[in-house]
Amino acid sequence: MAERWRLAKAVTLRPEAFGGMAFHRARGITLEVDAEAYEFLCACRSPGPLPPANHPAAHLVPQLIHLGFLVPAPSETTGALTPPPQATSWLGDGYTLSAPETIHLAITARCNYACPGCYVPHPGAEPELSPAEWCRLIDQWAQMRVFQLAVGGGEPLLYPGLFEVLAHARARGIVPSLTTNGTRLTAETVRRLAAAGVARVNLSWDADEQRQSTIVAVLQLLLDSTLQTGVNLLVTPTLLSDLPRILAQLRTLGVQRATILRPKPGAANAAWYETSRLHRADLLRLRAVLREWQGVLDLEVDSALVSLMRDQQPAFLRRRAVYGCAAARRICTVWPDGLVTPCSFLADLGAGNVRQVPFTELWRRGENWEPLRDANAQPQDPCAGCDIIRLCGGARCIARYEKGDLLAGDAACPQHHE
Ligand code: SF4
Ligand code: SF4
Repeated sequence: MAERWRLAKAVTLRPEAFGGMAFHRARGITLEVDAEAYEFLCACRSPGPLPPANHPAAHLVPQLIHLGFLVPAPSETTGALTPPPQATSWLGDGYTLSAPETIHLAITARCNYACPGCYVPHPGAEPELSPAEWCRLIDQWAQMRVFQLAVGGGEPLLYPGLFEVLAHARARGIVPSLTTNGTRLTAETVRRLAAAGVARVNLSWDADEQRQSTIVAVLQLLLDSTLQTGVNLLVTPTLLSDLPRILAQLRTLGVQRATILRPKPGAANAAWYETSRLHRADLLRLRAVLREWQGVLDLEVDSALVSLMRDQQPAFLRRRAVYGCAAARRICTVWPDGLVTPCSFLADLGAGNVRQVPFTELWRRGENWEPLRDANAQPQDPCAGCDIIRLCGGARCIARYEKGDLLAGDAACPQHHE
């Protein structure tokens, strides 16, 4: 009898206008496939033999097995794993997804630090959403098949119902991660984060030496736990000159992953941004450091640094799920009072508040988000004509700050004039 295979239990499927998406919750990998391949994946919810060579999805099977999306089915397994994914009322348009892949959840604006670069508007007049309100939202997101929640703040560990919210997300099949300044992490909080199903904790590195000693101490707690651990490095020109030393220190401490963040202008940090932005020469230096260190550490860059990869083929970037500026199309932010914006750095482009309108409706309507969702409205010079324009997007928050236009290109792109 032919060997039987089935979809891994940790895979979430979601239909889209172009076919569908599959997210592996344990591996954090997302695939986008056409309609025939999506139909095949749906069929794999029940065990069966691999498709014949002339099947339209047959060419994908080795990759699906390699990435753990298809697994051997024990011979006694019968029946489908989960009910078939329901098509939502809106499938997106192929450029904007039917639902966010990741929602950035600013769970509180409160913080025990006052970093000059912080983009979070100070706590407003409206009360924060309660844990019960967040949990009801998570139920809506589970129905839409949102894949991941990136929980931050403010300092999220100051939010009293944090563990309840995180555990509810995991129970509803959404993978939560957490970004923290580390000051509230203890052996007990690390244990509770792991118990709540958090996949990854990102610690924000700080240029202040006293704060660095706190980070180093809590890093050890995290590295000794089952949680994936990463460090976020906000690379200002000052930090850039020290970056190789910091990366060496992280490696010595046993850190494997670091995320490189570009300074970005937000609602509350304009004065800081003026002195902390990266110019083209800085981006060229940063690219050189990252090339030297990639492979020694697992380095990721944020959505505003995809231009550092412009020498890569678009197909290569697509295979690695690089989407650059995906604000309002693949991601959004929900603020502590329930306001929904395209991302954390376009906090004035509110589409509405989840206290008044269901999130599903706010996402579908995308009020105030039209320029970000128009597939034909690509960034202008120096981005016009760029090979990877659809995968980079030219850092729209920076373009708007510098030129007053979301659709202006990224004038600091290191490839410009090369
Ligand atoms: S030219 Fe624009 S779209 Fe192309 S890599 Fe640079 S910033 Fe990105
Ligand atoms: S506007 Fe785009 S580049 Fe800027 S932070 Fe948001 S997603 Fe990233």
